[in-house]
Amino acid sequence: MSKLEIHEVPVTPFQQNCTVLVCADTGAAAVCDCGDAGPVLALLGKLGVEASMILATHGHLDHVGGTAELKRATGLDFWYPPADDMWLERLQHQVQLYGWGPVETPRYEHELHGGDRLQLGHAELEVRHCPGHTPGHVIFVDAAGAQMVAGDVIFSGSVGRTDFPGGSWEQLERSIREQVYSLPDDTLIHCGHGPTTTVGREAMTNPFVRR
Ligand SMILES: [Zn+2]
Repeated sequence: MSKLEIHEVPVTPFQQNCTVLVCADTGAAAVCDCGDAGPVLALLGKLGVEASMILATHGHLDHVGGTAELKRATGLDFWYPPADDMWLERLQHQVQLYGWGPVETPRYEHELHGGDRLQLGHAELEVRHCPGHTPGHVIFVDAAGAQMVAGDVIFSGSVGRTDFPGGSWEQLERSIREQVYSLPDDTLIHCGHGPTTTVGREAMTNPFVRR
């Protein structure tokens, strides 16, 4: 099993960290949380890789807003947690609420569930269900590379909001304790917003949830 290179590109006015995950052995790549297609296509070109899949951690606008456009540009399939269907259904409402330009609601071809394993070249991503910020939120763990893409579950010194429809503080706390803090301390956390951190650092110092 080989590790993945994870490249971040902040997109949208929310500075959401879209990620491009690349298997260094094979060049196989995936795009995660495409909030805006333009910067992602530019990064794929710069890296010289061709993605084979589009993933999403959850259905908030800044994480999926560019996905329909990216699908049209690349013809790629989209993997999405169906427990977050309510957020795709509310996407146009989110667009109006935040005053964004026209955004097309993406359709997904494949479902993501906790326990799924996704093959990317010689690397493997484990899907973990982490409800609380949204009901269907998933994170992607590259165990061989000791790193994860955590979306809006946990941030450096903070945690995801739970005051949206379908949010739950109790669920978020349990998700962080059981699905994030159970990983080795040196595991890198690529967050949906802000800088990268580690499991050990957050488990010891996060003001909202400690191990
Ligand atoms: Zn979110």
